[in-house]
Amino acid sequence: MNCAIISVGTELLMGQVTDTNAVYLSQQMNLLGIDVLYRYTVGDNDGRLQEILETALQDCDLVLTTGGLGPTEDDMTKETVTRVMGDHLVRYEQAAEALRQLAEKRGIAFTENNFKQTMLPSRADIFDTDAGTAPGFALTDDLGRTVICMPGPPREMRSMFEHRISKYLRGKTDSALYYRVFRIFGIGESKVETDLLDLIDAQTDPTIATYAKNCECSVRIATKQKTAEDAERAMEPLTEEIRKRFGVHIYSENGKDLPHTVGEELIRRHLTISASESCTGGRFAFELTTVPGISEVFERGIVTYTERAKMEELGVFPETLKKETAVSPRVAYQMAEGLYRKTGSDICVSVTGTAGPGGGTDVIPVGTIYVGCRMNGETKVAKLMTGSTDREWNREYAVSMMFFMIYLGLKNKTASTFLTKKIYNESELQ
Ligand code: ATP
Ligand code: MG
Repeated sequence: MNCAIISVGTELLMGQVTDTNAVYLSQQMNLLGIDVLYRYTVGDNDGRLQEILETALQDCDLVLTTGGLGPTEDDMTKETVTRVMGDHLVRYEQAAEALRQLAEKRGIAFTENNFKQTMLPSRADIFDTDAGTAPGFALTDDLGRTVICMPGPPREMRSMFEHRISKYLRGKTDSALYYRVFRIFGIGESKVETDLLDLIDAQTDPTIATYAKNCECSVRIATKQKTAEDAERAMEPLTEEIRKRFGVHIYSENGKDLPHTVGEELIRRHLTISASESCTGGRFAFELTTVPGISEVFERGIVTYTERAKMEELGVFPETLKKETAVSPRVAYQMAEGLYRKTGSDICVSVTGTAGPGGGTDVIPVGTIYVGCRMNGETKVAKLMTGSTDREWNREYAVSMMFFMIYLGLKNKTASTFLTKKIYNESELQ
């Protein structure tokens, strides 16, 4: 099925309002497997709207409009659409009654022009509104072409789409878009894309696309199919190929982020966890606690920001701090070990580093981060050099690395990331 989206409103043409409705509807059509061929913006003008409608209906089975359904004089979308589709308006008693009840509830009197909204095309399927006063509708002509009209205010439009129109459209289309999102940590975006180039160039269905997000990448494959089983079958060969190319770096295939992927696995396997954080200031604990049910396994998170805190809370040796500084693999190791002595948790992670923007030295530049992880009876420490002085980026990367180390431990695999300089084993740090 093809469609066009028409955004009605002079304020859109004047640049006073950004057309977010069309973006939202494009995304929703994509999910439904309906191809969007055109997007138009037109002012509150009967003649020009008629022209655009007629043009759009030449190429598309479906036209979506937003805006101009309200009670005022300049709102004329409904009248124009009804005329173009060869129908006429009738009073829709249910809408009039709903409006009267709303007036009573709010203790206000609606003016006569409010009732203009209760006049709807005689053949229309009506979509009641629960977020505003203007109902939307779908109107189909003799040739089987459908125009769906929705209110302009984004909140009203989305609510109506979610609760009424998506269901209506699903009933009309015989296929939908199914997709799978691989989330990849530890490989740079350009490498991911280069490694997929042959597949990207050859794509038809399933399609394949990569996205970079902060310190990780996603690869999305999508296919238009009638059923979920057909989609599974269509995506299988490409899925296998992607798994083969990125291996353990793919930490999820359902779009789930690292904290949820790891957190849910810990809960499932009843593995307890504690964290000691320096440069991330508790951000790991924060991210972990976004996972519902994590209280079953999350023992504690300690922010040990000063050297004193590292010594008092975790038993980090003063000599080590003095000789190797707080940003060193041995301190990350001692933090994880100390945390284990204190908590006995199955997994004890630690992090220490220089987040920046200032404070770096030649020996320890900003963006040097050590992540320690004690699990499966051994402690490993990864050294990262992000090369960035962006404080937030460094902190986020550090937290992701903590989760990724745990993820690898859960899989009994090892891997470094593209910013990992070294992974130290226990024997090097004792
Ligand atoms: P109302 O009953 O509020 O008059 P309506 O259906 O007549 O609703 P419009 O009058 O066209 O809609 O628009 C109402 C408001 O909704 C606009 O002032 C604008 O803020 C917002 N709006 C309209 N169209 C869009 C759009 N395409 N994208 C984002 N916002 C929009
Ligand atoms: Mg209006």
